[in-house]
Amino acid sequence: MQSYIERQWALCMEDFGKKISSVGMDLWINTLQPINIEQDKLVVIAPSEMARTLIYSTYLDKMKEALKTHFNVEEIYVILPEEREDYIAKYSQDNPDAELNILEPKEQTTKNPFNPRYTFDNFVIGTTNQVVYAAARAVAESPATRFNPLFIYGGSGLGKTHLLHAIGNYIWEHKTTGLSIIYVTCEQFTNAFIEALRERHEKGMDGFHKRFRQADVLLIDDIQFISNRKGVQEEFFNTFNDLYQAGKQIIISSDRPPKDIATLEERLRSRFASGFIQDIQPPDFETRLLIIQKKIELERFEFEKGMDVELAERLSNFNIREMEAILRKIYFLANLHGKTVATREDMEEVLEKEGEPTVVSTTKVTQEKIINAVCKYFTIDKRDLTGRKRNKEIVEPRQICIYLMWSQLAIPLATIGQIFGRDHTTIIHARDKIMELVKTNKQTKKIVNDLVAELKNTQQNS
Ligand code: ADP
Ligand code: MG
Repeated sequence: MQSYIERQWALCMEDFGKKISSVGMDLWINTLQPINIEQDKLVVIAPSEMARTLIYSTYLDKMKEALKTHFNVEEIYVILPEEREDYIAKYSQDNPDAELNILEPKEQTTKNPFNPRYTFDNFVIGTTNQVVYAAARAVAESPATRFNPLFIYGGSGLGKTHLLHAIGNYIWEHKTTGLSIIYVTCEQFTNAFIEALRERHEKGMDGFHKRFRQADVLLIDDIQFISNRKGVQEEFFNTFNDLYQAGKQIIISSDRPPKDIATLEERLRSRFASGFIQDIQPPDFETRLLIIQKKIELERFEFEKGMDVELAERLSNFNIREMEAILRKIYFLANLHGKTVATREDMEEVLEKEGEPTVVSTTKVTQEKIINAVCKYFTIDKRDLTGRKRNKEIVEPRQICIYLMWSQLAIPLATIGQIFGRDHTTIIHARDKIMELVKTNKQTKKIVNDLVAELKNTQQNS
């Protein structure tokens, strides 16, 4: 049976269709899902940030009349699927007595619980995350055969949760396997445990055990928050052991390697070490560019030509989550200014406000390390590398060194110029030349890859 909201919404849709183009209806309005009616506004779920932006900026005015007629409200409040739970929690808290009229999303019970945007297809692969991607993919394709447990660590906003969801989405879509798959954050796990303890007499603990022990694949996000409360670690250890011994796949993420999680018991640490531990590093220039292009495509943003490259260059100190936020702000600002294509002016306005990133890249590669690595690789002298010699044996390493500094470090071209005592155009020329060779010449590509790997190594050992 249709609920009140559904009935009224259907009436609204008829009216919207009279004012909004059929393209607009198809692309944006039909995808909205009303979930609650508050005193002065209707609450709807939109599938993407882009849809939300457009509802507010373009369509709301055209919707008001119908909303007034059928719901007696003039405002709409748009949330994204991932915000639904928070919204419900807050609503029930603020309105303890209100009869909860909130619609479940359609097909709730059979609905894929994973974020539809966090898929392998939407994950951009670069030198800084290709190994972890391959491991996650292997685990999704054949769980519990190779990397078990799989432990993924890296700084905030670099794609850990995205990969965990991608594994979930993949297994969910290939349902033929019939696997049961559970995703929890460490915090949810802990809360579920504490709650179960409280309900001890009502078999709370039984339910807890059942819930986690039945998983074929268990994904635990942000394990660094594991509490050092004895009971919690004990329970986690037991769950881990039971699943592991039963041949089930476990995947864990953390912002740091197991050895640096102070609250983690030694025996858990050594369990993790028995599997596959892999880090994600902040993206280099090429990966940043690909990510920016992918996000522009996914969100259907339109940016003036060349802005993607410029942003990839300038956002070197931002993590991917922050990069996404900036793209969104730029496009939003352009919309506010009444434009459908974002321009450099919008970019400058946003970047000026953003200032320094809140999370500094975790890379510890330095100028010194790059120079040392290049000199060692080509067995040449440091003074020659940064000096005036122009013979081929020196020029190529120098250009590679320039390219590496530009792609691996967040420093302006002018600073690189100072290091080599050369002007801006020479530096750009060197960079462009190697950038081109990396694409066309296998040998140069190999040299650059080797050096990047070497830099990563020295970083881990230091
Ligand atoms: P973490 O869990 O490591 O803090 P998330 O997985 O939440 O980071 O990623 C932050 C944002 O960056 C997400 O929107 C995610 O889709 C995006 N992201 C991260 N890595 C990639 C990637 N390689 N390709 C595309 N998007 C990415
Ligand atoms: Mg995360």
